[in-house]
Amino acid sequence: MNKLDILAREWQFTPDREYASHLVKIINDPKRTRKRPQPECWHHRPPLSETLPILFDAGEDNHFKIRWLKRLKDRINSLNKLSPVTKYLTDLDDSDWITRLVAAYAITQLGSETFTALTPLVTNPDHPHWATANWLVQSICQYTLQEFGDNTEQYLCQNCLTRLSKQTLSGHKTTFQFIACRSCRQSRTVIKAAGEIVWVLDQRWKKRTAQTDNQFRINGLLQSSLGEIERVEILRARGNQIDAFINQLQSDTDRIRTQRYPQMVCFVDDQCKLAPSQVEQLQQKFGHVEYYAWREQEAENQQRVFPISPVKSEVQHQQQRLIRQLNSKEPSHRVSACKQLAKQPVPHAFERLYRRLRDSDPKVKSAAACALVRQCKPLCRTPNTLMCRDCFTRVTHEKVPLNRWFTGDIYYCNRCKQIEPLLHGIHTIIAVLDEQQEKTLVINGTRAEVNWLKIKTIFDFDGVEIRRANNPEIEQFCAQIRKHPDPQWQERFRAIPCTVHPSLQFAPSTQAILTGTFTTITTMTSQKG
Ligand SMILES: [Zn+2]
Ligand SMILES: [Zn+2]
Repeated sequence: MNKLDILAREWQFTPDREYASHLVKIINDPKRTRKRPQPECWHHRPPLSETLPILFDAGEDNHFKIRWLKRLKDRINSLNKLSPVTKYLTDLDDSDWITRLVAAYAITQLGSETFTALTPLVTNPDHPHWATANWLVQSICQYTLQEFGDNTEQYLCQNCLTRLSKQTLSGHKTTFQFIACRSCRQSRTVIKAAGEIVWVLDQRWKKRTAQTDNQFRINGLLQSSLGEIERVEILRARGNQIDAFINQLQSDTDRIRTQRYPQMVCFVDDQCKLAPSQVEQLQQKFGHVEYYAWREQEAENQQRVFPISPVKSEVQHQQQRLIRQLNSKEPSHRVSACKQLAKQPVPHAFERLYRRLRDSDPKVKSAAACALVRQCKPLCRTPNTLMCRDCFTRVTHEKVPLNRWFTGDIYYCNRCKQIEPLLHGIHTIIAVLDEQQEKTLVINGTRAEVNWLKIKTIFDFDGVEIRRANNPEIEQFCAQIRKHPDPQWQERFRAIPCTVHPSLQFAPSTQAILTGTFTTITTMTSQKG
């Protein structure tokens, strides 16, 4: 569409005679092929976002020497803070045609939030501004579809924190489609949000929102009304704050949220004491209320390279399908599964992909290698601090051929052939012998303590602490170390420092085995555990 044609259409379809009489001086239409006014054909009128830049350009062009163009540009540029839509609706009847045009522009800038005010105009063909209102609604709808049409779900209304969605507005014999907040209908200020939306009640948290790897977390205590909710976490909140939340839930009329509540899980930190009536009310609302030893889970989840979300979603079903497709009899299906897994990495697909490195088809081999390298990308940054939380081992590094010329790096736990359970930021792994420690794994910042008594197998530790254990257990532990088949490990184990608790009583034979296994044995000075 050329510029003059856009201006010609603007002239042809604007119902404003005075504005048209000014426009005609810019439009070169010697054959008089166009007829005006044709306000009933408002759908042919271009949006102001297309017309105005052309007019401003014409204003810069000395050839036209038209003074009102500069006045229009100044008026548009001085529109910093927009007034309520009622002011601009009044301005549509102003005696000055530039004021009328600026008002129309301002309405398009306000966007879909003006639709409530414009509805009586677009539904009444006898209204003097029927054509203008229809054209304005059309311009705004087009803008929202262009801006948010592709990834609508990714945007939240800045005010309500509700996801944008497709909406409709009925006019006179027309239905408009647009994208906006379903609560307040605005689409002017939005924020991007990726992943599951979590409604959090936590007094300690001061920010309004936070984006993590797979969640967008909203501080419910700072919101006066409910926004998008796909999961609830009550971590720290006073009784009256929980009551206020329950009230909000009970008076909620939003169709999408109310349909979703019965399928939702509400997590409650076990430190957060709820009254029995509150628990009952939450249980009535949500499908499931789960008490959560949040701090430990959180510490471990923070250290996971691929954090886990307990809620199963559509995406996970699709991922399972892709993983099954890796074993398809048809090589082209296997290649396509590898390619899709490379595009959207799925950490638990690692083992199945790894097996495809031995595929009979070279195309599958190379596609699998590419996918594996992509899955391992988050691991490349700190491979030395990775530990498998299931096997308590460090990672194995391997170079895989991507094609005839290039290789890529992959990292994985050699014992379980997985990457999903890897934790990062673990600088030291200590083998602990402690009869009273209930947990197999305790993480203390960068230090992981693994209770050997719970697993009785050898793993990749950097130090040993014998706290509470009997002599046969200690002897069994030393025997496992000494019998380890790998000579390199033997070398390593001898250099590993061993600390023992001062209260431990060793039988002479145990003492001998201990000193035979470790070169340095020190007695703990500070009481631990
Ligand atoms: Zn909103
Ligand atoms: Zn493992």
